[in-house]
Amino acid sequence: MPVSNRRRQLPPPLGEARPSQVLQLYGPGAMVDLPEHSVLIGGLDAWNTRGCEPIYEPRLQQLVRQTTGNPRIGLRTPPKEIDRLKNISGSIKALRFPEWCVVQKKIPDRVAFGISCRARLLVHYLSAGSGDFKDYRDEDGKHRLVPIRFVMACPHGHLSDIRWRDFCFRQFNCENTERLYLLEAGTGNDFTQIFVQSESGVTRKLADALIPESKALGFCQGATPWLGRRSRDSEPCMTNGERTVSRLLVRSATNAYFSETISVISLPEEAGSLAKRVTELKDELAGIEAEGDVSAALKFNPRLKNAFADVDPAELWRAIEAQRGGSGSEVSQPKDEELRLLIGSMDDVSSTAEDSLFEAVVLPTNNPQPWFSTAIKRVLLVKRLQEVQALVGFTRFTARTSSLGGLPI
Ligand SMILES: [Zn+2]
Ligand SMILES: [Zn+2]
Repeated sequence: MPVSNRRRQLPPPLGEARPSQVLQLYGPGAMVDLPEHSVLIGGLDAWNTRGCEPIYEPRLQQLVRQTTGNPRIGLRTPPKEIDRLKNISGSIKALRFPEWCVVQKKIPDRVAFGISCRARLLVHYLSAGSGDFKDYRDEDGKHRLVPIRFVMACPHGHLSDIRWRDFCFRQFNCENTERLYLLEAGTGNDFTQIFVQSESGVTRKLADALIPESKALGFCQGATPWLGRRSRDSEPCMTNGERTVSRLLVRSATNAYFSETISVISLPEEAGSLAKRVTELKDELAGIEAEGDVSAALKFNPRLKNAFADVDPAELWRAIEAQRGGSGSEVSQPKDEELRLLIGSMDDVSSTAEDSLFEAVVLPTNNPQPWFSTAIKRVLLVKRLQEVQALVGFTRFTARTSSLGGLPI
């Protein structure tokens, strides 16, 4: 297909994000309000992974494998643009969410429990009748659809539209087909001033959804719409041995998405150490798949023979496995190893080389006061270090706290 045709078929990107934003704000499952759209960031499988480069950080990789329970998981950078002129770029896919909208059309006020309220039609975008999914069509024209700001979710991250009809009529799988309205007496998020009402006047206040005991929003159905519109977990969603109750969530609220990350400081490998030599020659070692391959590889590859002639094959295999982050052994808490580095000798660790990952000097302390010498052994000035962060999951409502060692608990 000619390039010009192809280009026309690609939808233009709706926004851009920096890598750090992808990890903190725009990971899979995050809701994002763009100027023209409200979207849900899709799962990694749906992303265009152009520009996603493998990350070499064995310690982090092992931590991620341990945390996720997936022994084959690898680390990659977020996608990026390769060539702007040729329109070659990786991309993050997002899905339309929520699907329920209010209609931007001035209609007469309605009354809920004796309170006069501003009223707007509440519709699902597929029943808006305009065909373009952006507008609502009625006898006097097109009116803008505005995605509703309330959805429901659970702390495990499951998310879905509120079943507005069921909520209004207090009935699961309600088949009533009256028009629905969202009524607001005040401004903002005072839930006691917000109501759902049907054409015939059946009314319910949104505040009902805030009382967990009322189970007004039902049990969590395990919906994972960032993996596809009808996607859901196969296991029922449980909390402390009971079915999880869905909770009201304001899409734009700060508790709508907490990314869960693990980070490590890149530790320099001791100069000349086996680990360092394995890292330097990792491409040449890539063909080795088992301990039994080691001897043959050393025999036929002069560079490997040169580097590892003095090393026992079993020891070399262990070093290769560690470098690949693959061995199943428990990892020590990341901060422990980093602390060990920071309080240890800087010889062979700190480097001023251009590609150095770590540079630090011990600051001299001239004639320190006795209290100082008692409490503080030395002061280290870290001039350069590299932190690498991996996104491993997310929660809603409350953030998952990390242990002091840096692993999520
Ligand atoms: Zn009109
Ligand atoms: Zn759930």
